[in-house]
Amino acid sequence: NKTSSSNFIKNIVADDLKAGKVKEVITRFPPEPNGYLHIGHAKSICLNFELADEYGGKTNLRFDDTNPVKEDTEYVESIQEDVKWLGFEWDDLRFASDYFEELYQRAVLLIKKGKAFVCDLNAEQMREMRGTLTVPGQNSPYRDRSIEENLDLFARMRAGEFKDGERILRAKIDMASPNINLRDPALYRIAHAHHHRTGDAWCIYPMYDYAHPISDAIEGVTHSICTLEFEDHRPLYDWVIDECEMSSQPRQYEFARLNVTNTIMSKRYLKALVDQGVVESWDDPRMPTISGLRRRGFTAESLRAFCREIGVARAYSVVDERMLEFFIREDLKLKAPRTMAVLAPLKVVITNYPEGQVEMLEAENNSENEEMGNRSIPFSREIYIEQDDFMENPPSKYFRLFPGNEVRLKHAYFIKCEEVIKDEAGNVVELRCTYDPETKSGTGFTGRKVKGTIHWVEASQAVPAEFRLFEPLLIDNPEEADKEFLERINPNSLEVLQGFVEPNMKEAQGQDKFQFFRHGYFNVDPKHTSESKVVFNRIVSLKSSFDP
Ligand code: ATP
Ligand code: MG
Ligand code: MG
Repeated sequence: NKTSSSNFIKNIVADDLKAGKVKEVITRFPPEPNGYLHIGHAKSICLNFELADEYGGKTNLRFDDTNPVKEDTEYVESIQEDVKWLGFEWDDLRFASDYFEELYQRAVLLIKKGKAFVCDLNAEQMREMRGTLTVPGQNSPYRDRSIEENLDLFARMRAGEFKDGERILRAKIDMASPNINLRDPALYRIAHAHHHRTGDAWCIYPMYDYAHPISDAIEGVTHSICTLEFEDHRPLYDWVIDECEMSSQPRQYEFARLNVTNTIMSKRYLKALVDQGVVESWDDPRMPTISGLRRRGFTAESLRAFCREIGVARAYSVVDERMLEFFIREDLKLKAPRTMAVLAPLKVVITNYPEGQVEMLEAENNSENEEMGNRSIPFSREIYIEQDDFMENPPSKYFRLFPGNEVRLKHAYFIKCEEVIKDEAGNVVELRCTYDPETKSGTGFTGRKVKGTIHWVEASQAVPAEFRLFEPLLIDNPEEADKEFLERINPNSLEVLQGFVEPNMKEAQGQDKFQFFRHGYFNVDPKHTSESKVVFNRIVSLKSSFDP
């Protein structure tokens, strides 16, 4: 079911269409190219694109590139890749920087109407005079400059005559407004900075609150959807549309941003993790970026299903990270082949199995989806099992291998532990077992029962593999909440294990997904996998407990 469930914004759109307030719905997704997109952005992407899709409208991808110092083409490219990968196609690809000339001309119009002025106060003075929620602000001493002087100064700002911060263009609204956003907000600032698209053509750049409404209006956006922190900016948004005499009248609507437990949801912090080397890159599988989630193994379908399920509301909430895990398990349950991987190997020699013999056993690829067929896996005298599946002195209720105990090898035979081999330090390095040929899987053997089933990989043909297991990047302990962000980093967010997978997985390609019996879902890492080693990222563990 592709259509999203109802939400309050959808109801507004439906009403607007019905009442003839708009002829078609046009939305936009407006990222600032100052980082990679994260799961929070996915919510906004799904909302904007699905809304337009549902009513046969349009969605633009617009880069809000008005802050050259922090922006970069690397981000522009990754953002496009991520939106496409999520499964959406934009109608137009736009850049706020495309509108720099028009934005400038509309600012000149404001000056001519006496609605904007050039202010010489510095940032600190401006802040002091802005007032507070309870104290009205004070007018700038430059507020009553003549229109001619303002036009001249603004032209000279553009021409590069002044240094950064020396002057600013402000709207002339109301320094006593109870809404601080309306107290003569800044419209343009001076920044002698190279822009990734316009180069050095400009040294003044429009502020978000000015550029955004005009960009929306230029594109004919009908419903401009943003997060709740912009609610108080809405009167300014409307003021800009009106005073700049835009012919189209977009309306702003706000929804609550997505928060997920144990998950960092801010580009600033994500960038700090990359810059400080806490993670490998923006697409490190531990990152909640769309590219990180993709590399971890999340599918676009699972992220879209997640966004649909959490819905769109105005109330603040935090979504449990387990919800995201639920949707990827659901998506892969019937799609991912189920194979065996040994993450921490212990060698087992089956002493009564003929030396040099290798037999092929049939194994189904997905016990819940017959259509996925069967594969053949080798079995011989030497296999690897999981170190955890053996205990020399087990507690009661331990049904895996221990001296004298018998277990079932998945898809193969019962084996019984006869002897434990240790190194000089007393570590168990090998087990000697016997197998019972009568107990072969698929023969319907009912002679006796065993309580434990464990997985294994045949040793001579096993493919070496690396397994990367993850924990949250941040320690989400309320007691630590006031600690510095970088002090809350979880030192154990990555565990790397060297083990083996079945021989048929030699062919595994980047992004192939598997369910490893008892271990969970894994994705082939596209960056680290090489000729000599397959590297798997654990997407999620299985819901069921580890014990067989
Ligand atoms: P961050 O604060 O994480 O750096 P941002 O809001 O500054 O993100 P933008 O590139 O400006 O990032 O955002 C593009 C769009 O994505 C905006 O419309 C914004 O409202 C939306 N968005 C960003 N974060 C979230 C979130 N956590 N939940 C929902 N929408 C979000
Ligand atoms: Mg932003
Ligand atoms: Mg932000």
